[in-house]
Amino acid sequence: MVKLRNCSHARLHPNSAIHYTRAMTIFAKILSGEIPCHRVYEDAHVLAFLDIGPLSDGHLLVIPKEAKAQLHELSDESAAALGRVLPRLARAVMAATGATAYNILQNNGASAHQAVMHVHFHIIPKLGSAGLGVGWNAGTLDAVRARVLVETMQAALS
Ligand code: 5GP
Repeated sequence: MVKLRNCSHARLHPNSAIHYTRAMTIFAKILSGEIPCHRVYEDAHVLAFLDIGPLSDGHLLVIPKEAKAQLHELSDESAAALGRVLPRLARAVMAATGATAYNILQNNGASAHQAVMHVHFHIIPKLGSAGLGVGWNAGTLDAVRARVLVETMQAALS
């Protein structure tokens, strides 16, 4: 178990000491300050920094300090902290780039294009042809299947 400490690049808030129980991801190393980042925003639960391989100018990554691989594993506290700052960060990306359109992307699982196994949201400005390309092979919603899905999802929520 590794206890991360404050550093100059991305400081952990004193009240949010994080214990990592598995091999550190590249984002855990950014959080610990072991590797640098271009930090845009930080609070007790969240860090935002520029993507090293931007799809467009201003491509921003927003991560929780909580060390979880996928969104559904996050605590309510981390989830709320992310939700609180995402719109503000989107406004900052728009102001910095002049973008009037953008995508929020959040991949979970290698087959869903997740490369770094630490939860992260991409804020990707759409600037002309630069930005996120989206494939969207829409189907049709079957009424019987819809009823089953609603029932099983609601059961999972209770
Ligand atoms: P994913 O495919 O997991 O949703 O996206 C991972 C993102 O992390 C990619 O856009 C990639 O460019 C970015 N990334 C990977 N390593 C680093 C790094 O060391 N620093 C920064 N700033 N971004 C990184």
